Amino acid sequence: MATSNYENDELVFATEETSISYLPVERKPWTLLVVDDDEEVHTVTRLALNGLELNGRRLSFRHAYTGEQACKILGESAEDIAVILLDVVMENDHAGLDVVRYLRDTLKHPEPRIILRTGQPGYAPEEDVIKQYDINDYKTKTELTRGRLTTSVITALRSYQQIMALNSSRLGLQKIIGSMSNLMEEHSVKSFCEGVIIQLSSLIGLNAEGVVCARAGSVLEREDDGIYVLGAAGDHAMHINQPVEQLNNPHLIESIHRCLRLKQHISEPEFTVLFLQRAGFEAAVFINMQGDIRAAEQELLEVFLSSVSIGYENVHLFHQLRNAAFRDWLTRLPNRNEFINTLERQRTIALSQTLALVDISHFSDINDGLGQDAGNDLLRAVALRLQSELSNNVFKARIGNDVFALLGPAELITPQIINQLFSVAFTAHEHTIPLSVSVGLCEIDTTSRDSLALLKSANIALNLAKRKHTENYVFYTADMEQKTTTQLELIRKLRADFADAKLELWFQPQVDLINEKVVGAEALLRWPDGDGGYISPAVFIPLAEYSGLIVEIGHWVIEEACRRICDLDRLGYGDLRIAVNISIPQFRDQQFEERVKSALAAHDCAPDKLELEITESVVMDEPQIVIDALSALKAHGVAIALDDFGTGFSSMSYLQRLPLDRLKVDRSFVKDVGPKNNPVLAETIVTLGNKLGLATIAEGVETREQASYMIKLGCEEAQGFLFARPMPFDDMVNFLAVRQTSH
Ligand code: C2E
Ligand code: CA
Ligand code: CA
Repeated sequence: MATSNYENDELVFATEETSISYLPVERKPWTLLVVDDDEEVHTVTRLALNGLELNGRRLSFRHAYTGEQACKILGESAEDIAVILLDVVMENDHAGLDVVRYLRDTLKHPEPRIILRTGQPGYAPEEDVIKQYDINDYKTKTELTRGRLTTSVITALRSYQQIMALNSSRLGLQKIIGSMSNLMEEHSVKSFCEGVIIQLSSLIGLNAEGVVCARAGSVLEREDDGIYVLGAAGDHAMHINQPVEQLNNPHLIESIHRCLRLKQHISEPEFTVLFLQRAGFEAAVFINMQGDIRAAEQELLEVFLSSVSIGYENVHLFHQLRNAAFRDWLTRLPNRNEFINTLERQRTIALSQTLALVDISHFSDINDGLGQDAGNDLLRAVALRLQSELSNNVFKARIGNDVFALLGPAELITPQIINQLFSVAFTAHEHTIPLSVSVGLCEIDTTSRDSLALLKSANIALNLAKRKHTENYVFYTADMEQKTTTQLELIRKLRADFADAKLELWFQPQVDLINEKVVGAEALLRWPDGDGGYISPAVFIPLAEYSGLIVEIGHWVIEEACRRICDLDRLGYGDLRIAVNISIPQFRDQQFEERVKSALAAHDCAPDKLELEITESVVMDEPQIVIDALSALKAHGVAIALDDFGTGFSSMSYLQRLPLDRLKVDRSFVKDVGPKNNPVLAETIVTLGNKLGLATIAEGVETREQASYMIKLGCEEAQGFLFARPMPFDDMVNFLAVRQTSH
C-alpha cells in the first residue's frame, strides 16, 4: 500500500511522548486490534496513537496481518477488544468485511467498535453494510492523519465505553433497583447520597466520583438558603456538609446552582449535573460523566433517578419525621415529646432531680415589637445560653413557644442558677434585650407519678409564679393541685351564675377632694355566694380571665354601666362618669371597640361619661393591641384611666403612648401617706401625672389624714372607704340624693 501518503504527515514523527517514561498503568488499557496486511501501517498507527489516554486508560495493541488472523484473535478474546482498525482489502477484496461478519454474526459481539480503512477511495463498502454491521467509521488511509486517527479512535473508544456501560447496566438494572431498597434503608442522608454516587457511577461505568447537593433547610438542619453537599464519593468526600462553594471549581459550582435554578440536567463538556426532584425537594447530582446524555442513557438514568428520588424522599421524610417528632425546629433543642420521653426515663432513677419550666415574660410583646425574626433569634439565643451555661447533666428542651424545660440533678437546677443565667441581656438581630422569666419548679422523687403528671405539676407552679409579684419562681406543692380543682369548680359555677344573671354591678363613688362632691363612680362586680355573702372579685376575676369568661362578663359590665349612666342622667346626675375595669382578654376580642361603641349608642350615652380603667399589667401584656383599641375609643370620646398606677414602674415608657385622661394612684401609696412616712413615691406619682397633663385620683383613701395629704400633693380626686364603700346602684342613688344637695 502507498506508504508515501504518510510521509509528510505529522504522525510519522515520533513525538516527545515516546520518550516519556510511563507511569505504572493502574487501569486496564483499552485494547486496539490493528488489522492490516501492510506492516508499515501497524508501525505508523502505533506511533500515531502512542501516549493516547482516555479516562485514565492507555491503549494496548494487538496485531493481525490477515483477515484470518484477525478472526482467530477475535474468536479467542473478542470481549477484550474495544476498537478494531480494519483494513478492507487484504488477502482478498472482502477479507475485512468477512472479519466484520464473523465478529457480529458468528461470534455475536456487537460491542467492539470498528473503523474501516482502505487505501482506495473507490473501495468503500456499501452504506447498508456499514449500517448492518454497526461500523463506526469509514476512512481512507489518506484521511488517517495523526490528528484524525486520534479523533476517530477516541470517538470509537467513547462509544465502546458507553455501550459496555449500558450493557452492564441493562444486565444490572435489576440489581440496581434491588440495591435501591438497600439505599432506602440507609436512614442517613450522607450515606444515602454516597450510595447514589456509587450506583450512578457504576451505571455509567465511571469511578465513583461526584457529589449530591441540595438547598439547606430541612435536610441539613440549617436555616440559610445556601446549597450544601449532602453526600459525595471519591475526591469530594471531604466536602460533605460543606457549602457547595467549597468545591473549588467555579464552573462546577455555577452549574450546580444553575441545575437547581433551572430544574434540569446540565450537560457540560467536562461533567454532568443531574437534577433530582421528588415531592417538593430537589437535589443536584454532579458526576464526572462527560458529554451529552444520550437517549439510551437518558432513559436508564431517568429510571435510576426516579428510584433514587423515592429513596431520597424516604430518607428525607424519615429525617423530617424524626426531627418533627423529637426536635424543636427553631432552636434544635429537644421538643416536648422528647422531653417527656426523657422525663419518663429519668424519673425512675432514684436521684433527687428537679424539673423546671422557664417562661419568658412578655415574649409576645417582643415578637410584636421587633418582629418575628428577632423573636426567633431571641429564642435561639436563649437556647444557646441554656446549652452553654448549664451543665451537660441538665437536659434542656423547648416545650412551648416561649417555654423552656430543664431536667437534672436538683443542685444544678435552682431558681438562683436560672435567674443568674437570665441576668445578662440577650442579643437578637442588632437588639440587646433584657429578659425576665417566670419559673415553675417541681422536685421529682421516686413516688411513681407519670411524666405527664410531673409536667402538669411544674406547669401549675409556673402559672402561680407568673402571677406572683414578689419572686419569679414557685416550687410545686401537692396542695396546689387541690386548689386547681376547686378553681375549676368555681369557674363552672361562675359560668352558670353569670348565665343566670346572678352577677351584680355595684358602684363606689369618686369624689372631688376639695368639695367632696361626687364626680363619678367605679363599677365593681359582685358575685353573691348564695348565703348572703359575696365572693370577692379579687378571687373570681382572675378565674374569669383564665377561662375567657371575662370577655362576656366584661361586656355585660359595659352594657350595665351604660344603662346606669343613662339612669343617672334621667335622675339629674348627667355629669357623673362611670368607670369600668377592662381585662386583657377583652382587648383581644376583635369586636371590643365596636361593642363599646354600640353599648354607648344603645343607651344613648355621652361617650365621655364612660371611663375605661386599665392596669399597667394589661398594657404590658399586649401594648400595641391595647394602645390601638384605646386610641380609637378615646377618639370616640371615651375617657381612659390607668389603674393601680405606680405598682409597676416598667410601664413608664408606655405612659406617653397611652391616650390617658387620669392616673389612679394605687392604694399602697395612699396607705403610706402620713407625717411619719416619707411619701416620696406618692409625691412623685402625682407630680408625674401633673407634668403629663393628666388628672390624678387617689385610691383607697380611708382616713382624713390621707385625704388632706393627697390634696397637699396636688391630687384632685379620691375614692375610698372614707367617702363611700362600693354599693348597689339604688343605694348610690340614695347616697347621691343626700350628698350632692347637702354640700
Ligand atoms: P380595683 O380596680 O383596684 O378596684 C378597687 C378595689 O379597691 C375594689 O375592690 C374596692 O372595693 C377596693 N377599695 C375601694 N376603696 C377602698 C379602701 O378605702 N380601702 C380598701 N382596703 N379597699 C378599697 P373589689 O371591689 O374587691 O375589686 C377588686 C378588684 O377586682 C378590682 O380592683 C378590679 O381589679 C377587679 N374588678 C372588680 N370589678 C371588675 C370588673 O367589672 N371587671 C374587671 N375586669 N375587674 C374587676
Ligand atoms: Ca379599678
Ligand atoms: Ca385600683
